Amino acid sequence: MKKIEHIGIAVKDLEISNDLFAKLFGEPHYKVESVESEGVNTSFFQVGPNKIELLEASNPDSPIAKFLEKRGEGIHHIAYDVADIHAEMKRLEAEGFTLLNTEPKKGADNKLVCFLHPKTTNGVLIELCQEIG
Ligand code: ZN
Repeated sequence: MKKIEHIGIAVKDLEISNDLFAKLFGEPHYKVESVESEGVNTSFFQVGPNKIELLEASNPDSPIAKFLEKRGEGIHHIAYDVADIHAEMKRLEAEGFTLLNTEPKKGADNKLVCFLHPKTTNGVLIELCQEIG
């Protein structure tokens, strides 16, 4: 893994949280994006070298809606930048981690993504992401 690509934060209301985080960071988000397949609306903030992704459920059955129900708002996942997502998925599976998808999926922000089940990573949802070239 190369570096932390972004940190994902689950929020109930993206508009309200966009305002809140703009105040916090002193700069507004630079984009919003919906990922229909995941039932999620996202926005992205750049903070120096770091990126923060806010996630709001776009339908009541989405994984984010379930997360908010169970755990409330807060840190949802940590995403790591990888050079070759297929190779990294193979490596991590061989190491005993549980992958939540067998093939990389198209995620937000022009990325191929794969999630690791938090039960095999001390309760932290891990996202692998590879920039689509
Ligand atoms: Zn993410």
